[in-house]
Amino acid sequence: MSDASAMSSFHDGGCTCRHVRYRMTTNPLFVHCCHCSWCQRETGSAFVLNAMIEADRVHLLAGDVVAVDTPSQSGKGQRISRCPRCQVAVWSNYSGAGDAVRFVRVGTLDEPARFPPDIHIYTGSKQPWLALPPDTPAEIEFYRVSERWPAESLERRAALLAKFPRRP
Ligand SMILES: [Zn+2]
Ligand SMILES: [Zn+2]
Repeated sequence: MSDASAMSSFHDGGCTCRHVRYRMTTNPLFVHCCHCSWCQRETGSAFVLNAMIEADRVHLLAGDVVAVDTPSQSGKGQRISRCPRCQVAVWSNYSGAGDAVRFVRVGTLDEPARFPPDIHIYTGSKQPWLALPPDTPAEIEFYRVSERWPAESLERRAALLAKFPRRP
């Protein structure tokens, strides 16, 4: 997120069959690399890379998505938005943040290298062959948002919470 060129432009992405094309109109709030076993199973890979961003900053340029209700570790579930044709997941919503925040799958962006992880989470279940870079924060489980997010993202979060109060 420190790349100056990434600050001023849109970030487009989409699914594999190109039915779905979307645009993030700003940089994300924060980028999670999650190593939990649930994310490993859902991706069939070693981790998931999610860029969190306000839902109203993600626009469909083409196509549509289907929301698939999927179990989550919290028990509250998540809705994974997928291309109705090729079924690639482009983003998801978790119950905690409701529909206000989308977790965009970084790998579906046209230039995913713009958004490396801001933090590695749930490294307690990380695959043992994966060595994490020493200069990126890493947590055994989760973390305190107020301690990790940059000031600008915390301001955006405060604006979101004012608009969409957390559900009990
Ligand atoms: Zn598709
Ligand atoms: Zn996870």
